[in-house]
Amino acid sequence: MNNSANKAGTLRVAIMGLGGYATRVAKAMLDSKNAKLVGLISGTPSKIKDWQATYNIPDKNCYNYENFDAIKDNPDIDAVYIITPNGLHHDQTLRVAAAGKHVICEKPMAINAKEGKEMVDACDKAGVKLLVGYRMHFEPNTLEIIRLRDSGEFGEIKFFQGLTGFRIGDPTQWRLDKELAGGGAMMDIGIYSINGARYMVGEEPIWVTAQETKTDPVKFKEGVDETITFQFGFPSGVISSCLSTYSTSNLDKFFLNGTKGFAEMQPSTGYGPIKAWTNKGPLSFPHVAHQTVQMDKMAGIILNGESAQIPVDGKEGLKDLIIIDAIYKAVKTGKKVKIDLT
Ligand code: NDP
Repeated sequence: MNNSANKAGTLRVAIMGLGGYATRVAKAMLDSKNAKLVGLISGTPSKIKDWQATYNIPDKNCYNYENFDAIKDNPDIDAVYIITPNGLHHDQTLRVAAAGKHVICEKPMAINAKEGKEMVDACDKAGVKLLVGYRMHFEPNTLEIIRLRDSGEFGEIKFFQGLTGFRIGDPTQWRLDKELAGGGAMMDIGIYSINGARYMVGEEPIWVTAQETKTDPVKFKEGVDETITFQFGFPSGVISSCLSTYSTSNLDKFFLNGTKGFAEMQPSTGYGPIKAWTNKGPLSFPHVAHQTVQMDKMAGIILNGESAQIPVDGKEGLKDLIIIDAIYKAVKTGKKVKIDLT
């Protein structure tokens, strides 16, 4: 592994895939104290040129999808942040790991648990870290609600509701292509309700039931889900009820209820500001770009072995993929499906 962080302890990052979310991450990284954008991997030469000018990136740190394995010989790059369509994450992660660089991969980490497991194993074998872009795991309102829950403020937790969705536009985009997306709304936005159910409840689900409805089979082809409702059971008896959809606007709400109180968030996972309140009143944390905080924290995890309060490692990403596989199975069979995350 090439672990030559520069003297200031800054994580030097190359972004792979210069699309919409990468643009947001790159801007946010300008304010990061511990991470810096130093390299680019793209299939579009004109974007490379523009980004080089904006972020002052030298030619020697620019790659395309054919030649990026050569990054192994570049001592000026510590980590690659993969921000490409979901269906490409697996192969790209394996290649980055083989090049001896740390991987930060966007959610969903892959398109099924088998791929996810292979990614975790490949990074372990190569001795590099694998982190997933779960920006909400560092968000102050979220962490405060978890602190209040752990302090017993809400009593015994009994119920969680997670509603996440948006109305998807252009029918030709990769998010509606089974090969590149791995599914539909569940892969893209439903994963926030899955992941949120886990960190809000503070337990891992042991079963799931799920139901699908499709109003536009032309736009949402076979294997591309439009709307799925799903319910989890947790070991303590907590239940959750969640909705994942590409058919409504501004659906972004979490609700956690216990024997003594509740917490509610709306918006709960958007880019912010996040709005959160409990039965005792509103929470008020100043808004900071999620991606700036995420990159600062991830630099600490990668360079200094720090840990995240809610994990962001490959094993965490894999858990969500195991659950997604179970949800699709529950939809297909109409049966309650057991989940084993141990
Ligand atoms: P975009 O379509 O905006 O960008 C994806 C980029 O990937 C493209 O611009 C392109 O960059 C590159 N790419 C490589 N191969 C392909 C291909 N075959 N088809 C399309 N693009 C390709 O997507 P997003 O940025 O919105 O999403 C990228 C990833 O980030 C997804 O996994 C998504 O789930 C995740 N995401 C996470 C968010 C979060 O809040 N954590 C928010 C939004 C997205 P180039 O031309 O440089 O090669």
